Amino acid sequence: MDITREQLEQWDREHLWHPFTQMQDYAAQKPLIIEKGEGCFLVDQDGNRYIDGVSSLWCSVHGHRVPELDAAIRQQLDRVAHSTLLGLSTAPAIQLARKLVELAPPGLTRVFFSDDGATAVEVALKMALQYWRQRPDPRPRKTKYLALTNAYHGDTLGDVSVGGIAHFHAMFAPLLFPTLRAPSPYCYRCPLGLERSRCHIDCLEALLELVRTHHEELAAVVLEPLVQGAAGMIVAPEGFLRRVREVTRAYDVLLIADEVAVGFGRTGSLFACQQEQVTPDFLCLAKGLTGGYLPLAATLATDEIYRAFLGRQEDRRTFYHGHTYSGNPLGAAVALANLDLFESSGLLDALPEKVERLQRHLRRIAELPQVGDIRQKGLLAGIELVANRATKEPFAAHLQIGMAVCRRARSHGALLRPLGDTIVLMPPLAIDLALLDRLAEIVHRSIRDICEQVSE
Ligand SMILES: *Cc1c(COP(=O)(O)O)cnc(C)c1O
Repeated sequence: MDITREQLEQWDREHLWHPFTQMQDYAAQKPLIIEKGEGCFLVDQDGNRYIDGVSSLWCSVHGHRVPELDAAIRQQLDRVAHSTLLGLSTAPAIQLARKLVELAPPGLTRVFFSDDGATAVEVALKMALQYWRQRPDPRPRKTKYLALTNAYHGDTLGDVSVGGIAHFHAMFAPLLFPTLRAPSPYCYRCPLGLERSRCHIDCLEALLELVRTHHEELAAVVLEPLVQGAAGMIVAPEGFLRRVREVTRAYDVLLIADEVAVGFGRTGSLFACQQEQVTPDFLCLAKGLTGGYLPLAATLATDEIYRAFLGRQEDRRTFYHGHTYSGNPLGAAVALANLDLFESSGLLDALPEKVERLQRHLRRIAELPQVGDIRQKGLLAGIELVANRATKEPFAAHLQIGMAVCRRARSHGALLRPLGDTIVLMPPLAIDLALLDRLAEIVHRSIRDICEQVSE
């Protein structure tokens, strides 16, 4: 017998603890329970359709219920749903590893699978440390990491240690290892108080100086290439990433590129690093890897890193890290189909037109008086709302403006999730122009509605 909607709503309030969600507020509202997906839409229990405006938290690529992706999972299901990668292998994991190496920036030849973005970064952090201890001329003092303010790398303790969003991370300070911190290239609120029109990326100087001073103890620099996602879609000035790569190379510090959010076409190229011709020492991938279907993550590394882990059993050079479902064959099968579909559908070639259309819509949205800053890279954008455009003064936190705008958008037929008072737009790459127009219109209207209300 089918469970009634009312029953589900009640059980949701009674038993489910939602991530990144204030449950007191959540339980006070009618929950939105998604029943199915259709292309770029999600459909709730009452049959209401919503544009999936943030790709189901930044992971859907081709949309939902894509025949090729569904079929890949079904086919694999007829073989085996899961078998471990600990000392054994499976065809989908092997093929996916090969495919990722083929597509990634040159030099990344080894693929370590895990389950989530958080684990992909955690793996890179641990590998970096172990590498310095085991390479032919060991550098055991290299145990520290350098990360940016406003960084987000996931929610495990290693990732939180390199994370830089106080709001999420300060609570756990007693559990964290110390991390060197360089300013984030947040041009709208420039850490050096400079104007964007005269930007020479001076904020980079602090990072370069930290590397020069601390390289002997630095294992790695960790960053999100081109765009700091959870920080509010902060787009780095052109050349930022390349300069970080140059200085890390010059001072023998590893570079961990966390492309969990920006990978798989979001910024316009398959990987963000490619836009600045950068090969990191580690490339962390998740979210879009399976097209938004199943949890799977990968940490790519260079041969040089890999070789430092080779030896006899008793040498104890093994990487003692793994997850039960690492490289799960269903996930790997759908990831392969996802990458095939990138090629066969010409998805990346179709992007520039969509990116341009989005840009045009954003220019119109920028005219709204409460829009302080608009940041776009490829098909992702952040719209930062402020109480006062001249002074850049934020709205009072209790107003929850970002949340209010997204709630309004829901009533107009789009699902969004803000980052503070920054409205995020990150539709599936497969979205067509007409639907993109509709999404932008909903965002425009929702911002206008809510901001008019609060300024009255
Ligand atoms: C989402 C995200 C993560 C964490 O990925 P999960 O799959 O949620 O664990 C890590 N880094 C970045 C840049 C992210 O956006």
